[in-house]
Amino acid sequence: MALPNVTDLDLNEARVLLRVDFNVPVDAAGAITDDNRIRAALPTIRYLQERRCKIVICSHMGRPKDAPDPRFSLEPAAARLAELLDGEVVLAHDTVGEHVEQLALDLPPGGVMVVENLRFHPGEKSNSPEFAAALARLGTVFVNDAFGAMHRADASIAGVPALMDRACVGLLVKAEVEALSKVMEQPSRPLVAILGGAKVSDKIGVIESLLRRCDALLIGGAMAYTFLKAKGQPVGSSRVEEDRVLLARRIAERCAERGIRLLLPVDHVVAQDLKADAENRIVETIEDGWMGLDIGPATSEAWAAEIQGAGTLFWNGPAGVFEMEAFSSGTRAVAQAVASCPGYTVVGGGDSAAAIAAFGLADKVDHVSTGGGASLEFVQGVDLPGIKAIREKGQASSRSGGPR
Ligand code: ADP
Ligand code: MG
Repeated sequence: MALPNVTDLDLNEARVLLRVDFNVPVDAAGAITDDNRIRAALPTIRYLQERRCKIVICSHMGRPKDAPDPRFSLEPAAARLAELLDGEVVLAHDTVGEHVEQLALDLPPGGVMVVENLRFHPGEKSNSPEFAAALARLGTVFVNDAFGAMHRADASIAGVPALMDRACVGLLVKAEVEALSKVMEQPSRPLVAILGGAKVSDKIGVIESLLRRCDALLIGGAMAYTFLKAKGQPVGSSRVEEDRVLLARRIAERCAERGIRLLLPVDHVVAQDLKADAENRIVETIEDGWMGLDIGPATSEAWAAEIQGAGTLFWNGPAGVFEMEAFSSGTRAVAQAVASCPGYTVVGGGDSAAAIAAFGLADKVDHVSTGGGASLEFVQGVDLPGIKAIREKGQASSRSGGPR
């Protein structure tokens, strides 16, 4: 059964509990440094306003220790939301309770309220039935648009849907699921996957899933050195996961068996220390004492050609230590090639999304996922707890007469 979204339900004048991901970065003074996650929720909020809903917004933010902590208040997020909506946003000083319920009932049609950080209550992370029930009393319809939190079995994600009259996903989650499904199910060929970042062990599930689908696999970042070591190549003091070398060899063998083109770096930017100002060189063979911190120009060029020919492209994980200028060229070259690829392009992963945004190329790809962990789990084929809960709620209500 298809996942119900806000456009499938009659939401006219409904009281909606909307779960969003307002887990935005803030500086020491509490000012928001990147409001993209708030912006990402605007289409759903505006859609609900057009239907004259009372909108009760809940989110987590940071990692408070199961108790209220002003450093993790949603107040700055609520203020930013008010600016973006150019309208009033009520901030409730608790997350649940009679007072908050009354504020929700008192909202005018199209009115918006933000309740305090879900993680001020221990029941959020423990998915306590009592806390889920208290949240469920804030509305009659549940809408989950918090893609970045869909992989967490928390009360507001996994517990609430079954307790409400109706439940569906918002427009952001709909777009995320559609984009990632397009990569995983019947992609236009060839499907080219670029994987990089820190560790093979973080990405093994994603690699296995891609091995069943892709036509070419480009591996860079620190991960590449475990693969190069598996091929018997010298890697100097590059970051290698010794306990994954055998696994890397098996992955390479499976690529060969399946006719998947496996592209590993053929040259490298190396340094003796992981420092922004360390002396660096471009080499084909890594000598002892040197570590690979970025893919080299010949690799970038070969990859760009592969990327240009992709019918569908999925990129996760930077090609080098892109946070340091000296080791950012490879990731920049990948970002530029992805941006100009005529095929369908999706970027997933926290650091990869940050990289493509830092290069000013985010609007040149078809989809940049807002969920780091959630998008990786989705690509691995995990039935995300947030999606599962809504699908099951949909099935339960269609058995009892269908969604209204
Ligand atoms: P994402 O968040 O996109 O999934 P990861 O978290 O897996 O990506 O990896 C990002 C990190 O990998 C970055 O901090 C980057 O500096 C690091 N990294 C990339 N290449 C290397 C390398 N060759 N050596 C050490 N660290 C690397
Ligand atoms: Mg990361």
